[in-house]
Parts: sequence; structure tokens; C-alpha cells
Amino acid sequence: MAKTIKTVIFDWAGTTVDYGCFAPIKGFIDGFKSIGIDITNEMARKPMGLLKIDHIRAIAAMLPEPISEEQILKAYEVFEETLFANIEQHCDIKDHVIETIAALREQGIKIGSTTGYTAAMMERVLRKAKEHGFSPDFCISADQVAKGRPYPYMIWHNLMQFGISDPREAVKVGDTAADIAEGKNADCWTAGVIMGSSELGLTRAEVAALSETELEDRKAIVRAAYYKAGADYIIDDMNELLDVVADINRKLAQNAARKLLTPGPLTTRPAVKRAMLTDHCTWDDTYKAITTSVLNDITHISANDDYAAVLLQGSGSYAVEAMINSLCGKSEKILFLVNGEYGRRMLTIADDSRRYYECLVFDETLPIDTAAVKERLQKDGDIDVVVFVHCETTTGIINPPAELTKLAKSYGKKVFVDAMSSFAAYDIDMPGLDIDALAASSNKCLEGLPGLAFVIAKKTLIKRSCGNSLSHSLDLFDQYQSLYAGGGKFRFTSPTNVLLALRQALDEYKKEGGLPARRKRYLANHEILVRGLEKLGIRSIIAPEHQSYIITTFELGNLNFAKLYEALKSDGFIIYPGKLTSMPTFRLGNIGDVYPEDMANLVAAIEKCI
Ligand SMILES: *Cc1c(COP(=O)(O)O)cnc(C)c1O
Repeated sequence: MAKTIKTVIFDWAGTTVDYGCFAPIKGFIDGFKSIGIDITNEMARKPMGLLKIDHIRAIAAMLPEPISEEQILKAYEVFEETLFANIEQHCDIKDHVIETIAALREQGIKIGSTTGYTAAMMERVLRKAKEHGFSPDFCISADQVAKGRPYPYMIWHNLMQFGISDPREAVKVGDTAADIAEGKNADCWTAGVIMGSSELGLTRAEVAALSETELEDRKAIVRAAYYKAGADYIIDDMNELLDVVADINRKLAQNAARKLLTPGPLTTRPAVKRAMLTDHCTWDDTYKAITTSVLNDITHISANDDYAAVLLQGSGSYAVEAMINSLCGKSEKILFLVNGEYGRRMLTIADDSRRYYECLVFDETLPIDTAAVKERLQKDGDIDVVVFVHCETTTGIINPPAELTKLAKSYGKKVFVDAMSSFAAYDIDMPGLDIDALAASSNKCLEGLPGLAFVIAKKTLIKRSCGNSLSHSLDLFDQYQSLYAGGGKFRFTSPTNVLLALRQALDEYKKEGGLPARRKRYLANHEILVRGLEKLGIRSIIAPEHQSYIITTFELGNLNFAKLYEALKSDGFIIYPGKLTSMPTFRLGNIGDVYPEDMANLVAAIEKCI
């Protein structure tokens, strides 16, 4: 179920009542006058939105000389007297408030409120506003909580009152920077109203006296203040609020929680997404140290210190291309072993980077045939490098890395592996098998976010690769030099936030229990999926002994993929089309932040569709 807006929490003076927020102004001026200090209108208005005693202190802080606590209390006392004397004359309801609130209530939305007025002041405002036809479902004053704005506590009280647990189902509407700050601190949506606001600080008559350009200039200043405070929406008048709520609901629906049953990008953990919230500079030492720790951790998942991981900006294919382009000598001959789309992609890469190569192409539903490879290696002594895909994500088939590597090594060849969809879920012992290089990415079994790829290769091989690459951006040697000699410095702009997410994804990986735990979970997911669909008569096309526990291809039969996709999407599952040319299929990945229960729910959702 998509989330929707459940409450709109309004401010009072300047937002819903008291056009221009004038009630407190005279009070502040009188209060300071009583202690012999003249303040300007502008000074009186600047801290608007705070609890009134905090407001007095904020004005005091603007004075050239500090004043005593006694003077502050005296100013407050006089402020209260003035305010109480005229507050009831400032309870006019602002334009469009009544009908907007009626329309919100019709959508089942609760009307909350918070204020910088004390409870005693609000008693009068609430009574007067009610007489004028405005009465919210809940109101709390800053003096009824430990701290007023910009603290979020008044908003929390509203949420508690209405039984709302997710602040993203609430909008705070106000007319000051303090209102927006309160909303941001509560993590709700925020909207600033320009006309009749304290930030604009004009009476209706003053507004009417301005020329159109003067008014636009004044409004632009208010807009800038709301923008700086972090407002999600900035509106002229309350009649735009319904559109704001509709737009938020559209965003909430568009971004409703879902499970991705794909080979990447995947469903990721909240901690991984949250890790992106800090902005870092590419050459900052703290950031570079994080990068170095990521390089180190990635290397040690499949290799040791004889190897180095080289990160690259881009998706997995960038790493595959960099590996082929940079680590193969210009005159070296490559043998590609192909049994799927990702193998074919490497041929395109080799063509475009003008590499000298041959290929053996196999049936997509069968693993690479080692006997055929042996025959070719025996016949063709010129071959220098053998390249294959470990888990062919096209079908989900697993090619045998140990057998293929041993075979190639027995003929003295180098071995490069595209382990994009298997890295971190399958044990790939690079030093033990003597694999020379491997390519993978952040957004598959490491369960990070898309945007980073990497090659792990023997250091000796990388160091000898200077000048091999025909591409500048994908030059692995250059990137290696920069990352390792530069202490974690990317060449060119680094996707800093994605790297932070990858750091967190590696921490999550360790926390889960590393490769054994991840393999166990994926295996359990895979089993439930295959058994469940088998019972529904939906068969997987790869023999179980060659099938990976990463992604599985199923016969579509007489199901319509587009219809199945839409039906499952409305149940919160995203599935993947098939890539086989020989028959209609669809694919289901079972990697990412997904668990056996999710798989069981998916099977149930598919059963409902057929
Ligand atoms: C995902 C994947 C790639 C890289 O594909 P991108 O779309 O560039 O991320 C390469 N090889 C295999 C086997 C893959 O699964």
C-alpha cells in the first residue's frame, strides 16, 4: 500500500490567521521600549515562529550590548500585556483557509497545528478563530513541550494524537523560516506560504500600495528565505495547498516500497541508502580514506595482497571493458567463451577496442563445454588470454570457473572472468585458481547502489599494463595509479555518495556473516522460488546442476509478460523480462534485501495472476 498524506499541520499567526502576523510586533517593540531600548520592526520580526520568550532572547542577542536576565523578563512581561490587549483583533482568518481545510478534511486528512504562542494566548486565539469558522483537530503550544521551534516536538505531539508513525505522511505549513526548520527536524514535508506571511511582513494595504515589480521583489526575498530553510514547496497562497498535497501523494505512490526481483539494481537496505546523505569532496582525506578501505575490503573478498581492486565510475560493463581494454596487450590474442548475452557484449567491446580475438559460442542453456575449449587451446597456440562469464545472467547458468581456469592455466594462458553477478555470493578463489583478473560491480551481490564497478587483478599484471588502453576514461592503469599512489583519489569526479553507500553495503555484508551467510540466504530464496513456481507448472529452463542461486529463467508459456509485470508491480514486486531468443521466458532474481518470506509472497502473487 502506498503511503498518503494523513495530516497537514498548520502554523497560526501569519499562516492561517492574522494576515502579515502583526499581533506580536507591537508587543516586542513595547517590551524593549520598557527597558529603554528601541528596536526596529525588522528586528522584532526576524525570529518569528519561536516561543515568545525565546523570541525575546533572540532579539536580545541581536543588540550591540548584552542585557540582563532581569531586563529580558521585564521586556517579556510588557510584551505579554500588549499582546493580550490586542490579540483578539488579530484573529482574522487568511484567504482560502476555510475552504482548503474543508477540502482536506474531505480527503480524510487531519488538521493539526503548532504555534509559538503560549497556551494562555492560544486559548483566546482558538476561541476567536472558531467564531470565524476555523477550528483544527489538534493544537499544541510551544510552552507545552520541552522546547519549541525549531525542535520537532510539537509536530510529534500532533502525529501521536492522530496515530501517525511516519512523518512522511505529514506536511508542515508555515510562514517563517522557523516553521520550515521545525518541519525539517521532524522529517515531514514542508510548505512555506508567501502572501500574508510574517516573512513578507506587510498589511493588505501595504501590499496593495506596492507596484507589481516591487511586490515581486519582496516575494522573491521570502521565497529565498524558505528555499534556504529547506522548504519542499513554496506557495503564494493557501489555495495552492491542495495541489501540493496531490503532488506529494503522487510522489509517495511513485516511490512506494517494492521488492526488485532483478539482477540489479536491487532492493537495498535503508542503511545503504541513508549512507548517501553526506556530501564529500573527491580529494578530501576523510573521503579518500573511505575509498581506500572499500578497495581493501573488495580485494579481500576473493583475493589477497598480490591483487588490487580498481574502482571505476560506471556500471558493470565499464569494468568489463576496462579489463579487456587495459589488461590485454595490444598484440595479445584473446579467446572469448560465450554462452549468453554478457559473453556477446564482450565481443562487441573487443571489436570496438580493436582487439585481436577469437570466440567459441555455445548453446545458451548449457554451460561452456570444457572439452571444446581444450580442443581449441590445443590447436591454437597463439592465444594469450581466456575470458568467460562466471554466472551468465542471461539465463542464470553457472559456468565452471575452476575447471576452465585450470584448463587455461595448463596451457599457460591468462584468465579473466566476468563475475558481475556472482562476486560476493560464490567463492571465487583468485589466488588459489590463479585467476588473473575479475570484473564486478557495486549493485549486484554486494547489494550496494548502481554507479560503481571494479576490476580485481594481479598487481604485477596491472603494473605491466601501461599504454594498453585505447580509451582514456577506462584506462585501468591510470585509475590504479591515481587510487593507489594518490591514497584513494579517483581520476575524475567520483560518485561520492554511491561510494559511501558501497562502504555501508560492505559493512552490511560483514554484519550478515559475509559470503557464507549471503550464499545461504540466496540459496533459501532460490529454493522457495523454484519449488513454488514448479507447483504452479512454471518450469525453469536450466538443469538444476548448472543453475545459479542468483537469477533463474522461467518459461513464460501462455502468460503475457506485460500483464504479469503490471499485476505483480501493483503487488509490490518488480520482475525481469527474459533474454533468450529461442523461447518466451521471464527472469526472477533472488538477490538484494529479500528473504524467503518475500519469495513465498511472490509465488502467492504469481499464483493469483494465473
Ligand atoms: C550485470 C552484468 C554486467 C554488467 O551490466 P551493466 O548493465 O553494465 O551493469 C556484466 N556481466 C554480467 C554477467 C552481468 O550480470
